[in-house]
Amino acid sequence: MTEQPRRKASKRNASKGAPRRKLETRPGAGPGGAGNGLPHSPRFLFGYLAVAFLALWLWQDVARSLAYKALPYSEFKAALVRGEVTKVSLGKDQIEGELRAAAPAAAEKGVVTSRDDTPAAPAEPQLFRTVRVEDPNLVEELVEHGVEFVGVRPSFLNQFLIAWALPIALLLVFWIFLSRRLMGAGSSVMSFGKSQARLVAERTGVTFDDVAGCDEAKLELREVVQFLRDAERFRALGARIPKGVLLVGAPGTGKTLMARAVAGEAGVPFFSLSGSEFVEMFVGVGAARVRDLFEQAKRHAPCIVFIDELDAIGRQRGVHMGVTNDEREQTLNQLLVEMDGFEPNSGVILLSATNRPDVLDRALLRPGRFDRQVVLDAPDVIGREAILRVHGRGKPLAGGVDLGAIARGTPGFAGADLANVMNEAALLAAREGASAIGQAHLEAAVEKVVAGPERRSRRLNEEDKRRVAYHEVGHALVAARCAHADPVHKISIVPRGRAALGYTLQLPAGDQFLLSQPAILERIQVMMGGRAAEEVVFGVVSTGAQDDLERATALAREMVTMYAMGKSLGLVHWAPPRSHVFLPGSEAYAPRDFSEQTAREIDQEVKAILDAAYAAARAILTREREALERIAQELLQRETLDASTFRALLADPAESAPADTATP
Ligand code: ADP
Ligand code: MG
Ligand code: ZN
Repeated sequence: MTEQPRRKASKRNASKGAPRRKLETRPGAGPGGAGNGLPHSPRFLFGYLAVAFLALWLWQDVARSLAYKALPYSEFKAALVRGEVTKVSLGKDQIEGELRAAAPAAAEKGVVTSRDDTPAAPAEPQLFRTVRVEDPNLVEELVEHGVEFVGVRPSFLNQFLIAWALPIALLLVFWIFLSRRLMGAGSSVMSFGKSQARLVAERTGVTFDDVAGCDEAKLELREVVQFLRDAERFRALGARIPKGVLLVGAPGTGKTLMARAVAGEAGVPFFSLSGSEFVEMFVGVGAARVRDLFEQAKRHAPCIVFIDELDAIGRQRGVHMGVTNDEREQTLNQLLVEMDGFEPNSGVILLSATNRPDVLDRALLRPGRFDRQVVLDAPDVIGREAILRVHGRGKPLAGGVDLGAIARGTPGFAGADLANVMNEAALLAAREGASAIGQAHLEAAVEKVVAGPERRSRRLNEEDKRRVAYHEVGHALVAARCAHADPVHKISIVPRGRAALGYTLQLPAGDQFLLSQPAILERIQVMMGGRAAEEVVFGVVSTGAQDDLERATALAREMVTMYAMGKSLGLVHWAPPRSHVFLPGSEAYAPRDFSEQTAREIDQEVKAILDAAYAAARAILTREREALERIAQELLQRETLDASTFRALLADPAESAPADTATP
């Protein structure tokens, strides 16, 4: 609440101080604003005078040229011969003069435009001007006709103004404009702290109650909270509180949320900046920001300084080249200096978050800096249920809603995903006009988050639909016949997301941290089930299994290279070390460090595993041909089958009994 006005005030001050650098003392001071207009006035006065002078001169020039009538040279000569020219001044390339009025030439011209003017005209001589033409006898003719003539030197002032003053004035204007812009940027650097670091009010409004799960992290951070609340007690016992705490975890696990909660719990000011906000176009700005941030923080101690996405500035130094790198290194160095600079128990605690702790500079992680790391894991079942409950607060949940079941069905979901599920469910319920969020909404929301939105508009033709149905039932059936495979939760042939034409959803009974070798093999078999079914039923295969094959191959390769589950390759770990601990799927390309021979053997082992899995899947489906047919027909009818329907169809006593006896 109080945050808004304060931020606004600081912004206003910053912009007021923008034109002048001297104002970096303290904002909000009245005299600074009042003195602002005066120092400019002499300069402005001078500027106004110059502009007025120029305008006057221009005006004169224009007025003069309007009064004179431009004549072609031939007409001027004709008038001269007729004796109408009375006075002439000869310039270097222009001739000006007076014509006697009421001459036939003037009347001739006046006929068309203004007949009424002719009586008035005789009184005034007509001024004229003509461009001078090479005419050596002109002076003689003038003398002959008795014309009064003078020679004119080009006016010095005119020359000067055109040749020098105008261009210089233009340059000056341009230069002032540019320097204003640069000054603006410069002064925003100087007054950085006032405009950039957000001084969040005493209460961030978030407490530990809003962060569900991650109890170990909370336990560690409670200590920090207690210190901020009651520093004296710690000081009396001589306990040293960590200066910096680094929150690490996969994206969406609630690192930012947790930092805000710590500030909220402790009830201290919370200075928050994202790592990328330090890195600017100008080298040195980031370092200045760091300095300013800590200056402010010390003034407000006890408080929390939070740097989000620390890896933006905290990467290892000297890895890359280039300007941005210089800037980052300077910023990082300044950060290191500042972290050493404040006393351990001064009441400022630096919190930071990153999902790439592996790329951080070693110097950041040594004792005395970010010496404490708090890991925020992807939540387990209980944590997920708690997070769902937190986000279900304030939303009307229907009576029979079982959040535990949803939590069980969403292994691997991070906090942000679960928040998303809850929100999607609310949206779905609203779209249906329901008065409360029901179990069905939640389950649909989970599917939407996992597989993308349903696309009922994408119509498959009958042939393709049949193929997809058999393919999916192939997966499901193999899964049902494997001892270690996760139970089938849903089969669908409604297209979803960008690519999937149908899908089989398996959900684990609980969180799994280890996979046995048979379990992995069976997982590969299930992936092969789709293609095997196509072959068993149609005799020909299609492109539909591409994704399955890709995933199966990756898994088989992991078995051989990472888990030493191959037959002939021994216990060697052949894969390059995983670099991104918290960002799975973003493996860096590392050069492989084994021989061609080994590469060949790995390929052979992978192929052998895949072949065996495919054969096993085919065997299961050939044996269960009737079940496959029955379930696929049902799926074609209903488009989706849930777990219980699938199980009922599987256990059809008429056909499944002989199949069961055949299994052993
Ligand atoms: P990170 O910074 O780790 O990428 P955030 O802290 O920004 O993730 O989390 C994004 C959102 O996910 C939060 O705003 C919150 O709604 C939700 N969220 C994440 N973790 C939790 C949690 N443990 N409890 C409650 N909500 C969470
Ligand atoms: Mg974050
Ligand atoms: Zn498939």
